[in-house]
Amino acid sequence: MSVPTDAGAVGPFSDMSTTYMTKKTLGLETVEPAVTPPTGEVATSGFTKKSKMGGGKSKKKEIPEGLWTKCPKCSTMVFDKELDANLKVCPKCEHHFPIVARERIHSLVETCSFEEMDAEMISVDVLEFTGVASYRDKLDAYQRSTQLKDAVITGIGMIGTFRVALGVMDFSFLGGSMGSVVGEKLTRLIEAGTDRQLPVILIATSGGARMYEGMFSLMQMAKTCGALAYHAQQKLPYISVLTHPTMAGVSASFATVGDLIIAEPGAMVGFAGPRVIKDTTQAELPPGFQTAEFLLDHGLIDAIVSRNLMKERLMYYMDFLTAARRKESNR
Ligand SMILES: [Zn+2]
Repeated sequence: MSVPTDAGAVGPFSDMSTTYMTKKTLGLETVEPAVTPPTGEVATSGFTKKSKMGGGKSKKKEIPEGLWTKCPKCSTMVFDKELDANLKVCPKCEHHFPIVARERIHSLVETCSFEEMDAEMISVDVLEFTGVASYRDKLDAYQRSTQLKDAVITGIGMIGTFRVALGVMDFSFLGGSMGSVVGEKLTRLIEAGTDRQLPVILIATSGGARMYEGMFSLMQMAKTCGALAYHAQQKLPYISVLTHPTMAGVSASFATVGDLIIAEPGAMVGFAGPRVIKDTTQAELPPGFQTAEFLLDHGLIDAIVSRNLMKERLMYYMDFLTAARRKESNR
């Protein structure tokens, strides 16, 4: 249950965090033939050497200035604007880039229908944890860089015609790790869903439990599952959506107890990281190990749904899962 941290991270996620940083400033690395001249701020040695790129009447001028992102899967350079319009999915190979919680909520719920819950809840450094940096400092830094208070946003909103209790995790806040705040916000959301007789949808992305909070973070695993058990007793549906990556204490608790468990294509889902498993078992891991596709074949998840189709499919599933209740209430 390692917690991914920023640069210099150790453990199974160290390489993953670099994958997350694939956004390349124009001209920093690979210079495609059709790039616009960089502005002063982003000009780097690799670019300025080619002075002829700056002038002329070539087509380069017609391409609006902006940032490119290189797709780690197909190496295509995609315009950020195009990527944003496509919900951060590569238009060429369907690679799913990470997406922040607010953008994801925006892509799912009807405009102005989302009422956020517990927006101001923040973590307390109970253990007074200090390492390379203190937990307090880390929280401050991540709160500033992500504009989030912690790694999850919860609230009630409309998806199509369905009112749902929706919780969306954000990997950019301390690796989406689950501490007291994430656990408490999710639990309150699930309890609100139970009280108001609403379906719950949780969209997970996490490196696992937040080690800076020790035992308190591990207790969130049981707490969230307990709340979900009460929710299930009311015969209300819970759909869990696993996105890249969903690991450790989160995959081992609320994320894998859904009535339906769906995942985004290529999402890494597992408990310990593959290197740890390989070192422990001293065995070769099968190809595609811990990917959504592998887990679909082996029965852990029920469906793989592309981000662009997610809203439509969630509505379809909720329609199916709430049919019996509607029939009952119409009697
Ligand atoms: Zn691609």
